[in-house]
Amino acid sequence: MAWTVHTLDLGEVELNTRRLIPNESGIDTLRLPVQGWLLTQGEHKVVVDTGFRHPDILRRIGDRAVGIEAPHQRLLAQLARHGVTPEDVHYVLHTHLHIDHAGQTDLFPMTTAVVVNRRELEYAVSGLSGPSYPPEDIKHLIDRLHTRGALWLLDLEGTGGENILPGLRCLPAGGHTEGSMIVVAETEQGTVCFCGDLVYSVRHQLLSPTMTLNDVGLTSNYVVARRSEKAAVKRLMHVAPKFFLYPSHDWPVTVENGWVIEGAEKTLRATMGRCWCQLTEGGHADEEAALLNPPTQGSHT
Ligand SMILES: [Zn+2]
Repeated sequence: MAWTVHTLDLGEVELNTRRLIPNESGIDTLRLPVQGWLLTQGEHKVVVDTGFRHPDILRRIGDRAVGIEAPHQRLLAQLARHGVTPEDVHYVLHTHLHIDHAGQTDLFPMTTAVVVNRRELEYAVSGLSGPSYPPEDIKHLIDRLHTRGALWLLDLEGTGGENILPGLRCLPAGGHTEGSMIVVAETEQGTVCFCGDLVYSVRHQLLSPTMTLNDVGLTSNYVVARRSEKAAVKRLMHVAPKFFLYPSHDWPVTVENGWVIEGAEKTLRATMGRCWCQLTEGGHADEEAALLNPPTQGSHT
């Protein structure tokens, strides 16, 4: 049976542009959406990422970061729109444990299994990324670790991928953080891939006219070697011959044979706050048209 994807609007984050896009000046800030997803399949209910614990907690990471959230963007309110309470959710999957992805896990009872890649939990307590992993969030996961059935640890680096339920699989991301994972769900429309923060901006990373043929761009926020991060994004773009790519902080696009073939106009012209698209406002229409029609001569097959 196929999964259905419901997007959860969990507010926004505003922070220094240079934290997201390499070589930015650091003068501007940028506002981007924070998203989670409710996946349903018959009686099965799964949540992918839970947003931030509280908008003010974003200030801890510095770089002018702030969280923005209206009451209707609270996780409970977003789930309620679909008639779902935390008690109804069987699994909570975390692409990674950063401050804006794993902040409301304690809303779920211990009968809900939280699914995390073991490497990510280890990395979260390593002290290597400081306030990006708030103690409130991570200590709660340790409580789950000691509660039978409350935490499911994956070993994706060793297994190469693990199944959660039929048609729902986790794969090692290989980038952004040491233990990030990508989540792949089969829907009636086709394969959907939640890539966490391997891709922040479709426009800057996957549609830039300055990139060499078949290349992909990186964010300026990753902890693995640059070469590893590059390979991780390339692997992501070929996770299936054709799939829907859902970044945590940008709008979904359709990818076929490694190219964005549909949905780019949404990522280019989104109207939320001071979003990705507005970085390049005033750009030439020709350039935009070229971005919307990526070359097809590549050998991404
Ligand atoms: Zn994020």
